[in-house]
Amino acid sequence: MTRNWSEEARKRDEADRLAPFRARFHVPAGTVYMDGNSLGLASVDALESLERAAREWRDLAIGGWLDARPDWFTYGERIGARMAPLVGAEPEEVALVGSTTANLHSLVATFYRPKGTRRKILADELNFPSDLYALASQVRLQGGDPAKDLILAKSADGRTLDEEALISLMDDTVAVAVLPAVLYRSGQLLDLRRLTQAAHERGIVIGFDCAHSVGSVAHRLHDDDVDFAFWCTYKHLNGGPGSPAGLFLHRRHFEREPGLAGWFGYVKERQFDLALHFEHAPSASGWQMGSPSILSAAALDGALNLFDEAGILTVRAKSLELTSFLIELAEARLVPLGFEVGTPLEPDRRGGHVALEHDEGWRICRALKARGIVPDFRPRRVIRLAPVALYSTFAEVEHTVSALEEIVRNHEYEAFSSERAAVS
Ligand SMILES: *Cc1c(COP(=O)(O)O)cnc(C)c1O
Repeated sequence: MTRNWSEEARKRDEADRLAPFRARFHVPAGTVYMDGNSLGLASVDALESLERAAREWRDLAIGGWLDARPDWFTYGERIGARMAPLVGAEPEEVALVGSTTANLHSLVATFYRPKGTRRKILADELNFPSDLYALASQVRLQGGDPAKDLILAKSADGRTLDEEALISLMDDTVAVAVLPAVLYRSGQLLDLRRLTQAAHERGIVIGFDCAHSVGSVAHRLHDDDVDFAFWCTYKHLNGGPGSPAGLFLHRRHFEREPGLAGWFGYVKERQFDLALHFEHAPSASGWQMGSPSILSAAALDGALNLFDEAGILTVRAKSLELTSFLIELAEARLVPLGFEVGTPLEPDRRGGHVALEHDEGWRICRALKARGIVPDFRPRRVIRLAPVALYSTFAEVEHTVSALEEIVRNHEYEAFSSERAAVS
């Protein structure tokens, strides 16, 4: 018997406790948005907060540093504390600062001290290239050769990493390991606790890029004993294009000297003494560098209201329901048409998006966009779909799969050119 998928989707939407949150987002008219893992949508709360900050700039000028509500001077700490529950950290272990890539630089500059035979950084060949560019440049800054000192763990299937294989590379030549929490293409979620424990048993400092996991996965960075982590806030956290990033530092490292120091990392109460000798705040705040981007931070501040209200555990539960539904549909209706599901099927090994692979992936994405459905594409053949817990519906998932089915069945994608755009 064939299942009535749209009826199932309707029932799930009816039972969805998070359904009221959708009305608090600006879903672009006429679109089904499946790209919240690249750029999350604007919310009413984010825009109100942004507008308030703009008015405070207009009305208070320099006075806003202390008199704005919330004040600008401690915005990095404030938003860090607001993000802490999302990653399972203590409030002082998180700061809002920089960008994903800049935070990777500053954390690796803090921890990477090649000594004797322990000179290597362990990363993986599936990580987002920016992380690898940054790591290679950190090796060079220490006088090393990335060809020898940056080891990239290989993937057996081109989609996922095997924890056991990663651990087998953790020997006493490795100083620092930097791995993604959720892989940006396949959406695989790594076992942070297991990898951290293995790293620590071998004397290795370990950090995670949580760009694709924060806001969709409920991390426990403190309890998992992770040394450091960093993430962007414009994907699942809906902070707005280029919004400032997050930085986590386990409290046992608070006394360490920041690798890249700057005056916003100074002990807060004495920052304006403007002393010539640097004394960093003994918290993640010590890793701030310059003045925070207040307008961008304000949008994120508003966006975080929705996570406070919904709770990350509820967000994670619905996200898994959405991606499980999508995978079930894909297996029933798209795999027979030549698609492959590139995402691990086990829920506890999956982040917030699903990778559907097809040799005509790029042209299929273009056909989806022509129908008002927004996916994204990662070469060579990955269509990423992120149904987002706070604003996507099960009906949209069903609609997207029906569209994919028609596009391939009717060869609709053949009407599109295979030339790629600058941003996809
Ligand atoms: C999105 C993403 C980045 C982006 O870095 P920015 O510095 O914010 O431009 C970095 N790493 C990963 C894994 C990402 O998914």
